[in-house]
Amino acid sequence: MTTMTVLGAVLGGALVGCAGTSGDAPGDRPAAASTTPSRAPSSAPPAATTPSGIAPGPTGLAPVLTRGPKNAAKVVALTFDADMTADEGPRAAAGEHFDNPELIALLRRLKVPATVFMTGRWAEEYPSQARSIGTDPLFEIGNHSYSHYAFTSPCYGLPTMKKDAIRGEVERAFGAIRKTGARNVVPYFRFPGGCYDDASLRTLAAEKVTAVQWDVVSGDAFATDADAVAEQVLDGVKPGSLVVMHCTRSAAPVTGQAVSRVVPELRRRGYRFVKVSDLKRG
Ligand SMILES: [Zn+2]
Repeated sequence: MTTMTVLGAVLGGALVGCAGTSGDAPGDRPAAASTTPSRAPSSAPPAATTPSGIAPGPTGLAPVLTRGPKNAAKVVALTFDADMTADEGPRAAAGEHFDNPELIALLRRLKVPATVFMTGRWAEEYPSQARSIGTDPLFEIGNHSYSHYAFTSPCYGLPTMKKDAIRGEVERAFGAIRKTGARNVVPYFRFPGGCYDDASLRTLAAEKVTAVQWDVVSGDAFATDADAVAEQVLDGVKPGSLVVMHCTRSAAPVTGQAVSRVVPELRRRGYRFVKVSDLKRG
């Protein structure tokens, strides 16, 4: 097996849930997020809810969202991870594209609301795109850590961050994202690789953010067959589904093509696209 093959396998696994890059750093606080106001369900006691409206779980762990309510209407949330690791600056400088402006433009043309989980390093590399996404009401930006290092180990070969760095990662990413001028920043966090444990959730609870996983893996990471990605999404989506995809050209080159197929087909089936913050309301 060649080195590249091994690397591809490792990264491919990592990208299952988030996309295979790594990164790291600190930032600002989510609390003041210019997120859409009032997601908080009126049924929950305000004092016990996070800004995202989900009450902390037992033992002080942050809530984990994997999909909408069981009785959800025909709504589906497409989420796109904007991965870039702290050590990938030289690759970007050499011409590698960790962004995917064409995909964002496509979502705009199709009028598909979406949630972008952005690493702080990505926001630093592409500040104008981060600001553009974060000031467009069609989108909202969640936190995908600063560095894209794993919060637990093993995690698909991602480097693991030190335990004492975790809180700084969340804050540094929010800071980097806000520094671009992005305003639609929501208190949601997606773990790099989707890997976490109770300690990670305790840290998130302290940061007052909700962990957002998924129930449908698009398989777009390093995919070369857009139809296969589209089929996987179309086969997996149910009312209230939360789909994980990527908006990173170098790591997910066919995502735009897949979205072009998925969106009209799901609409034909009666689905409406929503952001994660709207998904929670069913
Ligand atoms: Zn990721």
